[in-house]
Parts: sequence; structure tokens; C-alpha cells
Amino acid sequence: MSPRMRVAVLGSTGSIGLNTLDVLERHPDRYEIYALAARSNVARLREQCLQHRPRFAVVVDNSAAALLASQLRSIGSPTEVLVGEQALTDIAAHGEVDTIMAAIVGAAGLASSLAAARAGKRILLANKEALVMSGPLFVQAVREGGATLIPVDSEHNAIFQCMGGSRAAGVRRVLLTASGGPFLRTPAAELRNVTPDQACAHPRWVMGRKISVDSATLMNKGLELIEACLLFGLPARQVEVVVHPQSIVHSLVEYIDGSMLAQLGNPDMRTPIAHALGWPERLSSGVESLDILRAARLDFEAPDLERFPALALARSAAEAGGTAPAVLNAANEVAVGAFLEGRCRFPDIVALIERVLERAPPMPADCVADILAADGWARREAHAAIAGPAGVHA
Ligand code: NAD
Ligand code: MG
Repeated sequence: MSPRMRVAVLGSTGSIGLNTLDVLERHPDRYEIYALAARSNVARLREQCLQHRPRFAVVVDNSAAALLASQLRSIGSPTEVLVGEQALTDIAAHGEVDTIMAAIVGAAGLASSLAAARAGKRILLANKEALVMSGPLFVQAVREGGATLIPVDSEHNAIFQCMGGSRAAGVRRVLLTASGGPFLRTPAAELRNVTPDQACAHPRWVMGRKISVDSATLMNKGLELIEACLLFGLPARQVEVVVHPQSIVHSLVEYIDGSMLAQLGNPDMRTPIAHALGWPERLSSGVESLDILRAARLDFEAPDLERFPALALARSAAEAGGTAPAVLNAANEVAVGAFLEGRCRFPDIVALIERVLERAPPMPADCVADILAADGWARREAHAAIAGPAGVHA
């Protein structure tokens, strides 16, 4: 019997983390859950440690780590608690870890994903923000480290499947499907008054709050456009976005001979997670069979770029390259945070990103320090714009 693959699930308490553990649990003969990592959710991490008995649990927040360590000690758990951001990076590059599920949300996942890339790990990438902000530097780290990068984002996993795991030879264009989010039919004038809970009530997927808001503004699709260019080595003009409200076709690839391949399935993240874990083999995932007779229809429409200007902003950041995608991503993280906390309105999110992008000097990204400097600058600009006397409105 071949040895079990040792997996570190970074972001284990989130939506992708929970779905990953659900798939891993189905295959105890193939995978060992070696490490779990999260920011501060002690109750959920404790439960996960008791169930999966990982060697390590990494907790970024100091007091949460101390609490978890004392709770685990008192019940004689074999799991060792490690604390802080450095421990997260150490675990991602740990000699005994084979596979990383990169499922931390936002730029907070960059250092660990990069460490895994440099250490030549198999990286299952859900954390699109890390790739978007660091761009070609991330791709280079994967290549130089001898790592394997497999997309978990459902659209990119679909494209990866359609391309048979190879790069973009003979591809005419890629069509990224978008559900359109909860405000697909909401008139522009009403977007001013939508609440965080309305924005997070996604019609097809249950996800963390940050990506739910990104799906509502369509910035998620903008980030995914940049992600697709990087993963598959395509220029932005070869990546198109099409609204597909049923979320059954997860994306399509068209070849120069006119063939168009698509991947279909129920909207359940366990499918791309199981695919990425098992590739090139297939694993059962617990996902129900797609009933195409019940689904019956597949609709496609062009996105409304006027109501959803995020797409155009992301496209121009993709074309500009350098630190522009890092600025876009950082301004978006700050703006989404402000919206979720009731400090700005929904349309302000994209207005704010646009304003920060306009003020950002065009800069090359020659090293990770350039990326981090641009990220820091954009966050300060975005915070200042939100706090400013005029608010976000230009
Ligand atoms: P979530 O908010 O449900 O979970 C986020 C996880 O990250 C949690 O475990 C949290 O503890 C951890 N985390 C947050 N900040 C951290 C920090 N500073 N340091 C360490 N850990 C930290 O988010 P999610 O919906 O699971 O999304 C995770 C990532 O996967 C995002 O990048 C998202 O874009 C991507 N993604 C999610 C889905 C989905 O269906 N949820 C689909 C595609 C891609
Ligand atoms: Mg996606």
C-alpha cells in the first residue's frame, strides 16, 4: 500500500476548509490530516482537532492559540498548537507535508502559499487573492520550487479539467461563467440600499462573507479573470465572462478548431476539491449526481458592465500588470470590510477601488517586497478615502 498523503488545511474553519475536511474524511486510507490552521475560531478548531487528531494546529491569533492549547491539553489531545503567522508559513513548507489546501481568505494567505510554492508542495489553490496580488512572481515560485499548482476555484478547476491538465495550447478563448450573484436583476438605483446580509445571500453557493460580497459586486469574477490569465498563461483578451444563472456549467474552453469544452456539475465545492486532491485520479466527493432532466435549461447572457463596473476595473488591472492587481485586490479587501461593517454603501466598494487605482503610480513588481509595498499603500489610501470628510463619493 502506498503511504498516505499528508495534507495541511490552511483556513480549515472556513467554508472551503469545512468542505475539504468533508472530502478528506471519506478517504482515510489515502490522506492523513497532518495540520490544520485558522485565525481564531477556537471552538471549531477544537472540534476539528478532536475529530481528526492532526499533528499540528496553527492558530494565528495569540490569545486564541493559548486558549486552544490549554483546552487540548486538558483532554490529553496529541495535537501540538503552534502560534502566529510564522508558524503558518513554517507548516506550509514543513518537510513532512505533501499537500497544502490554501483556503485562507485574502492577502493573509500570501506568505504561506508562497512558502509552499518554494518548498515544492502540491498546492490546491482556493485563495485566489494570493495569486492575483503576486502574479507572475507566484507562478515563478511554483516553477522554480518544483511545486504543483491545482486550482480549486470552481471555474478554474473546470478549465483545468477541460484542458486535460495541460496549458493553453490551441486555445482560442476561455469563457468564465458567473452566476451574476444576488443582484443580477436589481436596478442600479436600488444597489445603494442593499445590506451586507442581502449581499451575502448568494443564490447558488454558500461561502465566506468576503467572497460572497465579491460575487455580488462581480469583483470575484474580476479577480478570477486575473487568476485565469496567470494559471493558464493567457492574455486578458482571451478570457471572457458570461453570466450563467444556473451555475451548472462551471466554465468553458474554446479551441482554434471550433471545439468548445465545458465542465458541468452541481454547484458544490466538494467536486473541485476532490478533483484537485485526487488529480490525476478521481475521488468520490459526496456530491449528488447532476439531474440534467430536472435542470433542463442552461441560460447564458452578457454581463451588465454598467451596473457591475468591477469587471472592467479588473480587466484593466490585468492588462496593466505590475503592482496594479495587488492594488486592486487590497483596495477591494478594505472596501468589502468597510461595507460588511456598515461604514460604506454597496456601490461605494467599486467606486473606492477605482479611486485608489487611479491614484496608484504604475509600478513594476520585481519582487515580493514590491507587492507588499503596493498592498500597504493601497490599504492606507482606501482607509483614508473611507474615513475622509467626503466619504467615498467622488
Ligand atoms: P471563510 O471566510 O469561510 O474562511 C476563511 C478561513 O481563513 C478561515 O478558516 C479563517 O480562520 C482563515 N483566516 C482568515 N484570516 C486569516 C489570517 N489572517 N491568518 C490565517 N487564517 C486566516 O472563506 P472561504 O469562503 O472558505 O474562502 C477561502 C478562500 O477560498 C478565499 O480566498 C475565497 O476567495 C476562495 N474561494 C472560496 C469559495 C467558496 O465556495 N467558499 C469558492 C472559490 C474560492
Ligand atoms: Mg469561483
